[in-house]
Amino acid sequence: MALREAVCDKFKRDNRLDYSPAQVLIDSGVKPLLFHALQAMLDAGDEVIIPVPCWTSYIGMVLLAGAQPVFVRCPEERGFKMQGADLEQAITAKTRLVMLNSPSNPTGAAYNAAEMQGLTDVLLDHPDIWVLADDIYEHIVFGNFVTANPVQVEPALYERTITLNGVSKAYAMTGWRIGYAAGPETLMPAVLKVMSQSTGCASSIGQAAALAALSGPQDYLRERAAVYQQRRDFLVGRLNAIDGLRCHSPEGAFYLFPSCGELLGKTTPGGERLDDSKDLAKYLLDSAGVAVVPGSAFEYDPNFRLSYAASMADLEQACEHIEQAVKALA
Ligand code: PLP
Repeated sequence: MALREAVCDKFKRDNRLDYSPAQVLIDSGVKPLLFHALQAMLDAGDEVIIPVPCWTSYIGMVLLAGAQPVFVRCPEERGFKMQGADLEQAITAKTRLVMLNSPSNPTGAAYNAAEMQGLTDVLLDHPDIWVLADDIYEHIVFGNFVTANPVQVEPALYERTITLNGVSKAYAMTGWRIGYAAGPETLMPAVLKVMSQSTGCASSIGQAAALAALSGPQDYLRERAAVYQQRRDFLVGRLNAIDGLRCHSPEGAFYLFPSCGELLGKTTPGGERLDDSKDLAKYLLDSAGVAVVPGSAFEYDPNFRLSYAASMADLEQACEHIEQAVKALA
């Protein structure tokens, strides 16, 4: 109860949203919470709109709930963000849910209030569609940017939106395995029913740690975001200086999603042709010792994801290695 109350305080403090502890669930991370929420919300044959690139796990979880993902491609020219017209076009009579993730894994793209309103305006015309907001990177945003939550932007969506968040990213407490969600009273008991037959409950030790994180001082979150911002700025500049790579500068999270289209078709020193981002990721791992994730994992090519939740020294070295590997291609 103490943690659920702290979560209510957090939603009030950060998002100006009112929830009672009965509307809040705590689970062993956002990942199981997403799984349980989707099991509760979806039936076979339902369609779920997912802007892509998207976090890999959304796809498998929707499929495991028997539903069908409907991907909306959000190109780099539009900041990797879905617009109202894209959403409208993807909606059918079977659409049950729209999944939003701001800032996003894998692009770091985040919606401001006006951009979010472009989506919520469309949703107002479709009262049978649920909304899931995964705000786990909420506090990792740069400069004065503020990421928008759909209910905060459009209070009329309160009765059909579930917002998920956790301590893995903001507080770098990934291993403590605590995620939380808030939503309408019509939905949350159903999610709890699924959860109670699965994880049961989150570890009490993790809950105590999350309580300390959420109710303790919050000012260092801005300082931490400034450190990530320095790394983003360094990497965007450094990667764009490598011939063949193009990298956009996102609003948040700790990922970049550069395009490697110009490198495809080239040949490695070992004589292997790079046909897609998977081939490039393997080449970078084998020859440069740098781990990146191919865009196909996020339903978007020809790009790859890199994480900068790493020290500046490691990032500088990684860029050196990437540059050498790219230069060695013929
Ligand atoms: N949502 C997104 C968008 C993520 O990127 C991740 C982790 O990578 C999660 C949820 C899961 O976080 P947790 O550690 O709380 O399970």
